[in-house]
Amino acid sequence: MANTMTHRSVEVAVIGGGAAGIAAARKLAAHQVDCLIVEARSRLGGRAFTVENPSGFALDMGCGWLHSADCNPWVAIATAQGRTFSKATPPWGRATMTQIMPLEQQRAFRAALGELFERVSAAAATGHDRPIAELVPANGRWTGMLNAVMTYIAGAELDRMSTIDLDRYEDTELNWRLVDGYGAMIAASAEGIPTAFDCPVTCIDHRDRRIKIETAKGTIEADRVIVTLPTSIIGAHEELFLPALPQKTEAALGLPLGLDDKLFIALDKADEFEPESRVFGRTDRAATGNYHFRPFGRPMIECYFAGRWAHELESGGDRAFFDFAVAELTALFGADFARRLKPLQLHKWGADPFARGSYSYAIPGAADQRAVLAAPVDDRLFFAGEACSRHDFSTAHGAFITGSEAADCVLAQRRKS
Ligand SMILES: Cc1cc2nc3c(=O)[nH]c(=O)nc-3n(C[C@H](O)[C@H](O)[C@H](O)COP(=O)(O)OP(=O)(O)OC[C@H]3O[C@@H](n4cnc5c(N)ncnc54)[C@H](O)[C@@H]3O)c2cc1C
Repeated sequence: MANTMTHRSVEVAVIGGGAAGIAAARKLAAHQVDCLIVEARSRLGGRAFTVENPSGFALDMGCGWLHSADCNPWVAIATAQGRTFSKATPPWGRATMTQIMPLEQQRAFRAALGELFERVSAAAATGHDRPIAELVPANGRWTGMLNAVMTYIAGAELDRMSTIDLDRYEDTELNWRLVDGYGAMIAASAEGIPTAFDCPVTCIDHRDRRIKIETAKGTIEADRVIVTLPTSIIGAHEELFLPALPQKTEAALGLPLGLDDKLFIALDKADEFEPESRVFGRTDRAATGNYHFRPFGRPMIECYFAGRWAHELESGGDRAFFDFAVAELTALFGADFARRLKPLQLHKWGADPFARGSYSYAIPGAADQRAVLAAPVDDRLFFAGEACSRHDFSTAHGAFITGSEAADCVLAQRRKS
């Protein structure tokens, strides 16, 4: 769409062109509904973001794993696009780097993690929500590493996470990737769908029969709107809706975005390491990196930093991530290892103005806020996005399913009117 939009009228406006918005718009377009994606960035995909790096490899800075691949709707779309999958077992599903962490220790940790999930289920079954931290011994052998692993799963430490919400998460444990990037595939799936780029929405005025969407480039009028903005945006801007929707603000505040940042590092002479292997910088605390060696067999390390520690690193600037990774990796592999490392690509999701975090978790007591966030208002304002999903939150396929469901609601309303 031209960069000069000042006024536009559509039947359905989809606010946000990430996985949820794209899924919604694809379905509406397939039913010949006049719809428009209104996107703040100059690209589609949102937190699905593949970067073509000078290394020659496509790097997923946001979602990379097609979790629950056997029931993930993106698989069929990627297949139709002719994409190449990697079906290699992910590093967390195998024992690797036994020279750093002996096999018995890896087994003991895996057992401790399994026990934690059982305690989470038992605690959730009582109906009384509490922070997961209460289910972990304060100074147990694996407490630090449990906190690290859970923090990279949720983006937040155990003391901030709802037991009931985590227990609702569903995962078939089949995880695939796309050689050319999950983000690239998601963005490509919106081909042909009208989109207003560079168009941050500042207000959704739903006082009149036609909804007015105020944007940086003028006003868009619509009969119905599907809002797919991250909770970090909805929670921070009460003025986003006119009249305000305090129940949405409250729901979004109960479902904040945790933080996970990825740094890719080139690794010289990588062959000594097994493809898809993994090591943690430390096993005794949450403030550590998760280092995935040779993803797809490539000569690189995909580093993951999460939670409060990722916030801390973001405040130190780009170099802080690489320096910290080098410090942890040389502690494990010796001082000479530093010479083999070169930073390739980093994305700071906390500093990203249109994400302000990575994926949602529920604070204790807020698990049911996902349904509150997802509920339509006046059958004209519909909500989607990963945070709206009861069982697949925090994922790109969860976002897809909520977007597709919101489009179904719009189609049902159209049939009624
Ligand atoms: C580091 C990282 C790793 C991840 N790993 C995985 C993984 O392996 N597997 C997985 O399934 N998921 C993963 N995720 C999560 C997954 O990427 C997200 O859950 C999913 O992409 C969210 O989609 P969404 O449509 O709900 O939100 P978004 O993608 O955030 O879409 C919302 C859109 O709204 C736009 N927007 C924001 N503000 C405005 C405004 N004011 N006006 C207009 N538009 C606006 C944004 O630019 C964005 O495009 C990861 C995420 C991160 C950050």
